[in-house]
Amino acid sequence: MKIVIIGAVAAGLTAAYSIRKNIPGADITILEKGTDISYGACAFPYYIEGLIEDEHKLIAKDKEEVLGDGLDLRTLSEAVDVDFSAKTVKVRSLSNSNEYDLSYDKLVIATGAKSNRLDVFQGMKGVFPLNTLKDANAIKEYVEHHTPKNAIILGGGNKGLELLESLTLMGVDTQVIEYLPSIMNIYDQEFSDLIIKELKGEGHRINTSEEVRSADVNEKGYVAKVMTDKAEYPADMVIETIGLKPNTDFLLNKGLKMERGAIIIDLYGRTSIEDVYAGGDCTLIYNHVEKRNTYLPLGTNANKIGKLIGLAMAGKEPPFKGVQASAMMRTFEFEMAMTGVTDRVAASLGFDYDSVMVRTRNKSGYYPGGSEHFIKLTYLKEEGKLIGAQIFGREGSALRIQGLVTAVYAGLTVDDLAYMDFGYIPPLNSVWDSINVAAGKAVAKRIRERNRK
Ligand SMILES: Cc1cc2nc3c(=O)[nH]c(=O)nc-3n(C[C@H](O)[C@H](O)[C@H](O)COP(=O)(O)OP(=O)(O)OC[C@H]3O[C@@H](n4cnc5c(N)ncnc54)[C@H](O)[C@@H]3O)c2cc1C
Repeated sequence: MKIVIIGAVAAGLTAAYSIRKNIPGADITILEKGTDISYGACAFPYYIEGLIEDEHKLIAKDKEEVLGDGLDLRTLSEAVDVDFSAKTVKVRSLSNSNEYDLSYDKLVIATGAKSNRLDVFQGMKGVFPLNTLKDANAIKEYVEHHTPKNAIILGGGNKGLELLESLTLMGVDTQVIEYLPSIMNIYDQEFSDLIIKELKGEGHRINTSEEVRSADVNEKGYVAKVMTDKAEYPADMVIETIGLKPNTDFLLNKGLKMERGAIIIDLYGRTSIEDVYAGGDCTLIYNHVEKRNTYLPLGTNANKIGKLIGLAMAGKEPPFKGVQASAMMRTFEFEMAMTGVTDRVAASLGFDYDSVMVRTRNKSGYYPGGSEHFIKLTYLKEEGKLIGAQIFGREGSALRIQGLVTAVYAGLTVDDLAYMDFGYIPPLNSVWDSINVAAGKAVAKRIRERNRK
């Protein structure tokens, strides 16, 4: 069986190895338009700041290893067109501009996404996206060799806040500019307020509801100043983390079902066209809580679907309900995590939901060094079924989401969680775990509501 895979990072290479394992003897060709493969983009902030010193540590498999494993990996090879009826991919070699057709029995599209960029910075030096290993190296090199004094990060999402920490630790005076009224917008407003309050309390500058209007360069063409609708800031460096656009332009108008440029896939990575699979940041993945496909460009999802593609091609379908928007973020000592839906999403989907928020501690009250954390649970009013959770706090807070991920996946109710037997030791939690406390509050609220009726 002839398999062609387009893209050789998380989804593409995971699919390649999963197919190789599940369909021994498959003839697998991987096309990658860049030169870097199989890197862990999630580690970029820590690599840029020097916590991870060696670039090779970010790379799960290098080109020689992949070739040695019998996979025909072709770098600097861009898929420029696909004929789904003839089952061929047109490939352009970026080293000599030659073009050729490659036929397939099954195709995997794992082309990822590119960073959105603002026109105002076009052509300026010192302005970077952060999506690829090349971007990470360019930022690292710029900070180390141009020693910028001031940096502006556009966008207050995961990447923006992680970079705020990295650049600050590298001695760059860094601020975040976000055009929406809140940051970390996948969470509810309270969580944006919490992280903003803590970061501002530590002297960091987070500017919300502020829109970049123009920018100036110095005599050498490097960015020097950024003008917003509110102020003018000196800036020797700008990093744009303002969302992603799926790399699917070459697939448009060919009958492949897409929404907002992302390919719609089923639970096992199958697309609307037979024998064509897709996974990762170029796709809309099935979210079982929202009961629809959603755009969740995460390494977790890219790896998971990559593996499932290999299994599905071999006729195996392990039990899998879909994903549920589980995510984590850490900047400085602050941690956030979420799973399922927020109140905002629940409302937009018309769910009959309610929610509670509690403030508890990450260690027993008497144990030294503890700190507060906040847990919000969103549940269906009628049966009390948990449909979402959000957490904000310090050390150890984010990892508490894993219990709640399990609860949402399994369809547990707040009643199930109020007395659930969580483990306990004073340095790690309290005798009533924070999840017990939050769920207990939800149970009490439901009883009050019932009695009121
Ligand atoms: C800074 C940063 C931090 C992150 N942190 C986290 C985190 O903490 N947790 C988490 O879960 N996720 C995180 N992510 C997201 C995660 O890294 C991505 O979801 C994941 O890498 C997506 O993998 P992918 O294979 O879909 O796409 P990509 O990694 O984008 O790979 C796609 C590949 O396809 C190639 N390609 C594109 N078009 C073509 C073509 N036409 N022909 C040939 N090749 C092509 C590209 O060159 C690219 O190499 C982070 C990402 C970044 C950038």
